[in-house]
Parts: sequence; C-alpha cells; structure tokens
Amino acid sequence: MLPNFSRLFFAVSAALCFYASARATDLLIENVTIVSPERAQPAARQFVLVRDGRIAQISAKPLPAAKNATKLNGAGKFLTPGIMDAHVHLTTPPGLPMGTQDAALAPLIEAFNKQQPRSYLYFGVTQVLDTAHVGDGLEIFEAQPQHPDLFQCGAAPVLDGYPTVFIDPKIRYQVAPDYIFEPANAKAHPLPPGARQADHTPEAIVERIAASGALCMKIFIEDGFGPNADWPLISKDTLQRIRAATRKRGLILVAHANALDMQRMALDAQVDVLAHGLWNWDEAADKPGIPPVIAAHLKRIHSSGTGYEPTLRVLAGTADLFREDTLKDPTYAKVVPAALLQWYGTDAGQWYKRQMRQEYGNAPDARIASIQLQVGEHGMRAVHYLQELGHPFLLGSDTPSSPTYGSQPGYDTYREMRLLAQSGVPLDAVFRAATLNNARRFHLEKDYGTVAVGKVANLLLLEENPLQSLRAWSQIDKVILRGTVIERESLAADR
Ligand SMILES: [Zn+2]
Repeated sequence: MLPNFSRLFFAVSAALCFYASARATDLLIENVTIVSPERAQPAARQFVLVRDGRIAQISAKPLPAAKNATKLNGAGKFLTPGIMDAHVHLTTPPGLPMGTQDAALAPLIEAFNKQQPRSYLYFGVTQVLDTAHVGDGLEIFEAQPQHPDLFQCGAAPVLDGYPTVFIDPKIRYQVAPDYIFEPANAKAHPLPPGARQADHTPEAIVERIAASGALCMKIFIEDGFGPNADWPLISKDTLQRIRAATRKRGLILVAHANALDMQRMALDAQVDVLAHGLWNWDEAADKPGIPPVIAAHLKRIHSSGTGYEPTLRVLAGTADLFREDTLKDPTYAKVVPAALLQWYGTDAGQWYKRQMRQEYGNAPDARIASIQLQVGEHGMRAVHYLQELGHPFLLGSDTPSSPTYGSQPGYDTYREMRLLAQSGVPLDAVFRAATLNNARRFHLEKDYGTVAVGKVANLLLLEENPLQSLRAWSQIDKVILRGTVIERESLAADR
C-alpha cells in the first residue's frame, strides 16, 4: 500500500498547480437552486463561485469572476453536494472470481479498472470509502484521470475467519496481512508458519492500520451464512481490546454484522458503525411485522447512536444474478465496459450462478432469487422501523458484496437509495444519508456533505429536485469534481 506517499505526491502537485494557474480555475455557477442537507428549504437563484477546487463564495447577487472563468448556467437546475458511498470494494471487480490470476481475464480487469471510477461519477458519487479491499489496486483507482475522492478502512479479519475463508490459504495471509490472532481459536486456527503473535494482537493491528492513513478499521463479526455456521469468530475479550485501541488512535470502528446475534456482539463492543442492516433475524425470521426481539434490538441501535448502513443491495444484487433480464438493463451498458458485459453472458461468466445453484440444491433460479429477496425484505422492514424511530441512515451500497454481476459501481449506489425510499425513508432523509450523515460519521464534514463556503467543490447539477423525486439522482446534467465540470455522458462506458 502506498497511501502516505501518494497523498504526499498529490499535495505537492496540487500546491504547484495553485501557483501556476491560481485564478484560471475559477468556476461560476449562475442562477442555480441550491439543495443542501443543512438547509430547511432549497435556495433559488444563487451564485456559487468555486476557486482552486473549493467553494469560495455563495451569494443571492451576481458575483464577479475572473475573465477566463468557466461559467455554468444553472437556471432551472439544482445544485447538490456530491454523493458519498461509504461501503465499496474497489479491488474486486463484480462477477469475477476474487483475486483471480487467470491471464484470460486480465484484459477484462484492465477495462474494469479504467471504467470503475467513471461509473461512480456517472451516478454522482464523488467520494467513496473502501471498507475492506483485497490485495493491491487502490493506487490503480487513484491513478485514473477522473476518480472520486478515496478514503479507506483497514480490514482486520480474525485469523482464518470471514471474509478470508473464501481466499485460498496459500495466499490468504499475503492478501489480507492485517489479520488478528484470536487466542480463543488457537487450537483450530494457530498462527501460520513464520508469523509472530506480537504482530497480530489487536493493539498491533490497530497501530498498523492507523499508521497506514486509514480513517477507520473494519472488523468482521460473522460465524457463517448460507449452509455455513462454523467460521472462526472473534471473542468478546478481543473485541474489547480492539475498541480500546481504536479509541486511543482515533480510528472509527466499523463492524460487518447482519444477523441479530452478531449485531448484538457489535453493540456490546460499542462499535461506531454497523456496515450492514439487520436482515438475518435468527429465531424471529418467520414472524410478521417487527417482532419484539427485533424492535428491542433496533431501539438499542437508535439509543446508542450507532451508525447504520442498511446495504439493502446485498440481497437484491444477488437476486439480480438469477434474473434473465439483468444483463439487458440498458443502464448496464453505461457502467460496464462492453467486453466485460459480453463476458458476463458467456458460460464462463456464469460461474458464480452455477456455484450458488449448487449451494441451493439446484433449485430453480426464480426460487433462489425469491429467497434472497425475502431475506432482503427483513432488512427493509428494519429500515422502516428505524426510520420511525428517527434514526439517521448512512448510505453504503457494498458494491460488490459478493462476486455477483448484479452489483455494479455507481448504479448500485443509486439503487441503494431507491431501496431506502422504497422502505419508507423520506427523500430528505435519503439525501442526508448520502451526504451530510456520511460526512459527519466519517469525520469528513470539514470538507464534504453540504454546499457551503470552504468545502471541496464536489457537486452535482441535477435536472430535477431530489427532494421531490428519487429519480433526480439519475437525472444528472453535470458532475463537478474539485471544481472541474464533467459532462455526465462523457463518463459512460459506451460513450
Ligand atoms: Zn462489504
């Protein structure tokens, strides 16, 4: 990982640009309606001056700008902050086997890497948080000419636990080196040869992740899903040590947990953010409405102020793998490179579908899709209940949560917002989840989350008011990235 060096490089080059062309970068957006989450009402006929990539001035009166400034006519349009997706995985292309070394797939991965940041931008996502990347590849994302601002969580799986159970043990410890040795599992899961226990204590891992420049640390509270329930689990004692060490180092603690028992452990450990919604209801799964045991748990999430990312697309994106029309969705051509889209439809590209069919005893596709959606519906009910409690949501799509091609960069961020709305979250609350709530929770509010003076000019010019229609988030006219205006269609994979 090179985060420290690359940040330094960008800081130096940004400073050089500043001296070379200080005023040439002015952007003036005229006569626009500002829709920003901290405002009670949209503000019509505003003038917004952007200088050196930040918002310099906002006024109801026309503003002067340098002669060579770029002017943007905002009449009839809506200016919002860019969206932050707080749960993405940038180093695992959807639909491809995790960490594949197959040379035949290399050109597809290359095409994906070029398009991925553009697909996020195509759907107005100007900040992404990679909550647990596998292997290298974040520097590839940052090396693309146009890409959202990137933040990351260090991933700290328990030794041999989820999600590294899916990685070949021969490469597992190199691919995910920041694993935590769990003394409670020592017999079944001893340290691999050559590893030192002192390097894999909770304190040592927190130290390493903090030093890497990560915002947050992600842990995994998961004993299995589907037919599995025997993966090595993290202990209470280890969780306490992680919490103490992350507090000391100022790291936000994010937990993978989506089942009732697992989320209880996460709340006991006082994590800051649940990286998934509650959809595995354990013993309450067959009950209608919100059973008391679920209500009590959701109330505890609310009263403890724990951050909640519903990630409803996890189940819907798996269901989409089993739909016949998924690859014919015209939006796919906008966000998926043509060669990769074509490969998804081939026999080789259907590998994960075949694998899942086997896990479901070769049930018909429609049946598998409906099982996924039924589980997902529990997640939507939980969202509805939390909304009634007044709990603020965080937007995270978990793209891709598994090797399903039913989950795609940018498009899934949008579809996650749509599922929130379908769960009963009002449009203003969806808007806050995508902007200010994420910025606050991940300590980025100084730079992002609202249209305000001093903030980074990552903005969207929309054709419709997003407080009146969710569809406005796919009616993007222009994406403004650090003050640079980008035509949306220029970002499409089929441009
Ligand atoms: Zn994830």
